[in-house]
Amino acid sequence: MSKIIIIGGGPAGMFAAIAAAEAKAGAGENEVLLLEKNEKLGKKLYITGKGRCNITNAGDMEVLFSNVVTNAKFLYSAFYAYDNQRVIDFFEKNGLNTKVERGNRVFPVSDHSSDVIATLQRVLKEKKVKIMLQTEVESLLCGELSVPGKTVTHITGVKLTDGTKLPADKVIVATGGFSYQTTGSTGDGYRFAREAGHTVTDIRPSLVPFYTAEPYVTQLQGLSLKNVEVRIYDGKKLLYEEFGEMLFTHFGVSGPLLLCASAALKPKFTEKKLSMTVDLKPALSEEQLDKRLLREFEEAKNKQFKNSIGGLFPAKMVPVMLELSGIEPEKKVNEITREERISFVKLIKAFPMTLNGLRDFNEAIITKGGVKVKEVNPSTMESKLVENLYFCGEVLDLDAMTGGYNLQIAWSTGYLAGNSAGQKNFLTGKGK
Ligand SMILES: Cc1cc2nc3c(=O)[nH]c(=O)nc-3n(C[C@H](O)[C@H](O)[C@H](O)COP(=O)(O)OP(=O)(O)OC[C@H]3O[C@@H](n4cnc5c(N)ncnc54)[C@H](O)[C@@H]3O)c2cc1C
Repeated sequence: MSKIIIIGGGPAGMFAAIAAAEAKAGAGENEVLLLEKNEKLGKKLYITGKGRCNITNAGDMEVLFSNVVTNAKFLYSAFYAYDNQRVIDFFEKNGLNTKVERGNRVFPVSDHSSDVIATLQRVLKEKKVKIMLQTEVESLLCGELSVPGKTVTHITGVKLTDGTKLPADKVIVATGGFSYQTTGSTGDGYRFAREAGHTVTDIRPSLVPFYTAEPYVTQLQGLSLKNVEVRIYDGKKLLYEEFGEMLFTHFGVSGPLLLCASAALKPKFTEKKLSMTVDLKPALSEEQLDKRLLREFEEAKNKQFKNSIGGLFPAKMVPVMLELSGIEPEKKVNEITREERISFVKLIKAFPMTLNGLRDFNEAIITKGGVKVKEVNPSTMESKLVENLYFCGEVLDLDAMTGGYNLQIAWSTGYLAGNSAGQKNFLTGKGK
């Protein structure tokens, strides 16, 4: 009887185990073994979507692909083999009702990620997957087989940190990335891959906040700005432009706009100092904004400048805007010169900041980089270097924007790896 071991009980690993067990239907109990080093499954899944779990995105295929930042093409087979609708159907069929929210984000109706995990656990049990918790894999075990004209390296099992060797015919690495390490994603899979001869591309935090240089940013901490437009420049070159929501923190800037910027910008840029401007009134042109200011100043001619701009920004921003405007706060508005007003308009349209690099892996929603996808078969997720070794989920060099796309990658690649491993003959000697 052939045995499949899956390393890592996150979304990719759990889905791989379910798919492998389904593909081997009738093969017998304990044929699929899921190893997880934590005391429970899905520790990271539990904290996804602020505890609500944005399971996937209900957008069409084009939307799914366009939200994958790295190696979207590699995902062609995986997304078509198990698309977002199949993910939704899987959960619905297994008793978890789902709902679609703003931006086509799919959540459980209960708003509890724990229900997503409970559903997966129930299916794992139904499919007779053997789960071993608090079981940490130390290394992969490989063997060599001579076939006419070549030697094929193939997987023979795994070695646990307590020294136990578990034999297996196929091993699926679903160990996740390197972020939020307390959840168990400590990058072990990168080591396994390297030891098996794979290339692991540079890893970096992504979907992560930025540090900023200006002291006034600290004054704004806790403030969230909705409906603003952010522009990020390297010198004069515009690198990123997006409309949405941002947040000031004690160290810099975060919120959806900046998290997405961290994923969209090429790593060579995130390591540099970049300038950023925030358009606080994107719905108004400079001219329209100037007219509005003129009108307000004319309505209350004798008001001091500091008392006349409260309606334009959240209260927390007023002192900072006064400081950056260079206009005397006590100045009567009818004494403000045209030049002063125009420069104030420009400040509102381009509130300046300097981005000083990314925060670290502890705050990164995902890891950019991982096992090089060119060395993995996109139709099966099997290693092109070691026969019967598979990879799925975040351990691969794949990453996407927020919105449920990263979990879709985990489900799709997990399914494809498990299904392929479950269906494949023991050894074909097809390796190099
Ligand atoms: C705060 C936060 C919120 C997020 N929210 C969303 C969201 O709402 N929607 C979305 O699409 N994505 C979200 N993500 C991203 C998503 O969680 C990941 O993309 C996804 O969990 C990756 O799945 P995975 O199975 O590949 O890896 P993981 O979930 O990291 O699972 C890997 C598992 O492998 C285990 N493991 C590692 N090494 C070993 C070893 N040596 N032996 C045994 N077991 C091992 C780990 O303990 C872990 O349980 C979020 C991420 C974070 C951090």
